[in-house]
Amino acid sequence: MLDLKKDDMNKKLTIALAGNPNSGKTTIFNNLTGARQKVGNWPGVTVEKKEGKLKHKEYDLSIIDLPGTYSLTPFSIEEITARDFILNEKPDIVVTIIDASNLERSLFLAIQILELGRPALFVLNMADVAETKGIRINEKKLSELLGLPVVFTIGNKNKGINTLVEAAIEEVKQFDEGKKSRDIRYSNEIEACISKVETQIIQSAENIDGALRWNAIKILEDDKIVKDKFQNILSGESIKIFQTAEACRKRIYDLFEDDFEIVLTDDRYGVIAGIIKETITNLVRKRIDMSRNIDLVLTDRFFGIPVFVFFIWAMFQLTFSLGAYPMEWLDAGVGLLSNSLDKVMPPSMGKDLLLDGVIAGIGSIIIFLPNILILFFCIALFEDTGYMARAAFIMDRVMHTSGLHGKSFIPMLMGFGCSVPAIMATRTLENDKDRILTILMTPFMSCSARLPVYIVLAGSFFAEKAGTVIFMLYLTGIVIAILSGRFLRAILFKGEDAPFIMELPPYRMPMLKSLLIHMWERSKMFLKKMGGVILIGSIIIWVLSSFPRTISYSADYDGKINALKSDYSQRIAATDAQEAEELKRQLNLKIKNIDNTKEQERVSKSYIGKIGKALEVFFEPIGIGWQASVALVTGFVAKEVVVSTMGVLYGVGNDEGDALEKALKKSGMTALSALSMMIFVLLYIPCFATIVTIYKETSAKWAGFNLIYTTMVAWVMSFLVYKTGMVLGFG
Ligand code: GDP
Ligand code: MG
Repeated sequence: MLDLKKDDMNKKLTIALAGNPNSGKTTIFNNLTGARQKVGNWPGVTVEKKEGKLKHKEYDLSIIDLPGTYSLTPFSIEEITARDFILNEKPDIVVTIIDASNLERSLFLAIQILELGRPALFVLNMADVAETKGIRINEKKLSELLGLPVVFTIGNKNKGINTLVEAAIEEVKQFDEGKKSRDIRYSNEIEACISKVETQIIQSAENIDGALRWNAIKILEDDKIVKDKFQNILSGESIKIFQTAEACRKRIYDLFEDDFEIVLTDDRYGVIAGIIKETITNLVRKRIDMSRNIDLVLTDRFFGIPVFVFFIWAMFQLTFSLGAYPMEWLDAGVGLLSNSLDKVMPPSMGKDLLLDGVIAGIGSIIIFLPNILILFFCIALFEDTGYMARAAFIMDRVMHTSGLHGKSFIPMLMGFGCSVPAIMATRTLENDKDRILTILMTPFMSCSARLPVYIVLAGSFFAEKAGTVIFMLYLTGIVIAILSGRFLRAILFKGEDAPFIMELPPYRMPMLKSLLIHMWERSKMFLKKMGGVILIGSIIIWVLSSFPRTISYSADYDGKINALKSDYSQRIAATDAQEAEELKRQLNLKIKNIDNTKEQERVSKSYIGKIGKALEVFFEPIGIGWQASVALVTGFVAKEVVVSTMGVLYGVGNDEGDALEKALKKSGMTALSALSMMIFVLLYIPCFATIVTIYKETSAKWAGFNLIYTTMVAWVMSFLVYKTGMVLGFG
């Protein structure tokens, strides 16, 4: 048998678009119909009527753009036109365009349309606006609650339009198969009224067109148009219905002292509030509420500070414990590079420059890159979560000691990482005096470059107490910064501090991408510093420590080495393989010792050695020997260089392990002089890059002032500590 295709003729469907003005109805209408539209007027009124066509699969769709309304009450021509069309022309489906960013207002119309009992579809348009407002709508839940399909669209980007059409067709099919629209339930009194009127309508008339419940509600609302319709069709019979409704209205009025319409409107908003509560997460609101709760603890007068100290402690802990691993790998990598170049390159001055200058210099600093990255990551985390603003808030009272606000504490905190970005971060301070003062205080915050010095010195001389010593140094930095601020405020920046509001932004879940970007932007500065200033500095130090090339040594080191070699080679030849290995090892050790002694003498007679000796007058009173003095001077290039310079000067090459520790102890350095040196490193001249940044951000005057001021403070503090220690017998 041949199956005759009776479906060859396309199915026709009418889709009406309803919605508030400006919900994007016309935009969606245009998206759907393109140029195939006809503009006219609704019959009898001057309201514009737009109709358009659309072919979708086997469907010929006719789209009607209903007038925009906020409700379906009979108060305006638009409202009446829209609802008459839906009730009388019976479009196959009413698509309600909802402004998703304004769900409450839109739902007021939408649930009335649902109430008409016709197939309906909710379109959450302006999904983009809702998203930027932080409104998240659970469309599945909304769809479940209301028993109709819900789709998202972005009208002006033509997004979701196809889904809309598919969902509309599907919903029409469902109604063909017997689906009924879901009733919105109101409070008991209202429901009792509705049900009484419904019963009366059923008793009075079987042939009333349109939804029973909707008609009952409209009669209860005293809707003139619906009542007229009943009057026309039922004449006398309608009186009974009206009387029932009137009795209900009176009861409602007695109960609530308000008209039925108003009570129902309240109820509708109650229903809407319920829907919203279940389907919307207002991320902004939620964030604000949540933030308020978190702030009860984090910015509490008593809890705030310990929590803050804990976070800072955790930050350092993370920075150094986690950073230790990649640090080792990098260190090994640099060593490997240096060794392999050493093997392949023939001896030359260029090779010395490359290995002992460039690679030793850059290498000793690049190993701290992981620490710096982690530290900056933590700082970015504080910033992006909104905690940084709380830190500022907590420190506000402390900062007032210096006549500054908590906001100044943010750049200072960043100074733990690197003074350069920290000083640039003072740009957020509105007041110029505050800004300069903060810039002058920031270098006292112990930057990450100083840490290697503490690790070496505290590690060598304070053993298990090293951690405490380092923590105390950081604390000293903060105290000196704040006292300095107070001092400078009193002398140089007289005047009241301007009041200002410290904003507490809501806490946010940080985005990894943004954290990484922040971390990278700051670390980039560090890398630039390495490629520029540190590279040049390393070369200069190398030149100063490598020249003059010919030095008259106090002993014939090379002769000693040669004698050793020939002595050992005879002994090695005369013994078995195993013992030969042992002898070779001894030989190498001895040669290394001689080499080191030679190197030390060479450096002491080089230009840098001469500079160091000249500086002894300055450093002697604070217990620092000439090698350490030179290291401190080179530290002006970058604090990281201090350790590598000490490595060179104490004759241990690039080996920063316990070789340096032994050498330091042998050179006569004591715990007290090590402490003095650490304090000096903590406080003296920030590095070259910092001075340049201060210059760029303020003026040459302040850059110069900072240079002299910090060095003076450092010297005085070291002097006090050293002399006090001597008097107390710790020397
Ligand atoms: P109507 O009054 O409901 O017909 O609204 P229109 O279609 O005239 O749209 C009102 C405005 O909203 C227009 O400027 C549209 O470009 C814009 N619009 C429509 N849909 C969206 C949307 O999803 N997102 C955004 N951001 N704007 C939209
Ligand atoms: Mg329009």
